[in-house]
Amino acid sequence: MELIRTLIMHDGGLPGLAAMTTLDRPEACVVWHMPHPDRAVATRQQACITAQMQALGCTSFVGAGPLNHSITPSGPGKAFSACDEDQALESCTVLMAAIAARQHGCHRVLWPENADDDADRLSSLCRRAVLIQHLANLTSDGEEPPPSQMLEIDIPMLDCSDRQVADLAIRSGVPLDQIHWCTSRADAPCERCASCIRWHKALSELGLAAVQQ
Ligand SMILES: [Zn+2]
Repeated sequence: MELIRTLIMHDGGLPGLAAMTTLDRPEACVVWHMPHPDRAVATRQQACITAQMQALGCTSFVGAGPLNHSITPSGPGKAFSACDEDQALESCTVLMAAIAARQHGCHRVLWPENADDDADRLSSLCRRAVLIQHLANLTSDGEEPPPSQMLEIDIPMLDCSDRQVADLAIRSGVPLDQIHWCTSRADAPCERCASCIRWHKALSELGLAAVQQ
């Protein structure tokens, strides 16, 4: 059976790393990254992604430019007008990844998100994945491409808790200091941002203390 080439969205964090471990052939995937707007944060993200790719044997990397205004929430991104601003931006980012997937011969996009027992979040992720997949498969004449050309948006860890995601990521063997989650400019995890609070809780449930990044 022909291998479906996969593009995986990754920001250097635990969910992206966990999603990489679900791939049958991580060496054949394309790692796609949209850098954080803060240069210091983006530099740390990039270093972590590079280290993780080496650990898992991935070699193909694509860096995105800043969010293209043509598909922001005021452009075609208005398709996500029922979402709040964060969800609309998140959805536009996934759509950009889907466009990149087409450009790089991938027919599957891994969106590394999990609902962590939040029913509203689970429902929102499912609805937006279906919508983004539909948008990504529209051709210039408004028809869908043949099945062999269809692009799939996959959320492999949709039903997982944060603890399960952290567990998967840690089992990859990548050390914690090569995983990025803090969105502050600090050299070490600030322990105050929403991302630190979320992942430090998950790591502590696994009996792990977050180490300096
Ligand atoms: Zn932080």
